[in-house]
Amino acid sequence: MIKIQVDMEKCQHYGQCVYEAPNVFKLNESDKLEYTATADDSELANVRAATDVCPMQAITIVD
Ligand code: SF4
Repeated sequence: MIKIQVDMEKCQHYGQCVYEAPNVFKLNESDKLEYTATADDSELANVRAATDVCPMQAITIVD
């Protein structure tokens, strides 16, 4: 299990993370980011990719 945190003060809701890890991140109907705080280990590569592409460096994988 991996734990995910997004700093919503930094997040600008651009949605790049949604393309990399659509099982974890989504934009809601108001175009605001929503995400699951935990995800299966099988999502690790996707969440790492999302972390890498986030222009605001807002995503953290919590150990
Ligand atoms: S890529 Fe980063 S800034 Fe964009 S929605 Fe995801 S967490 Fe927010």
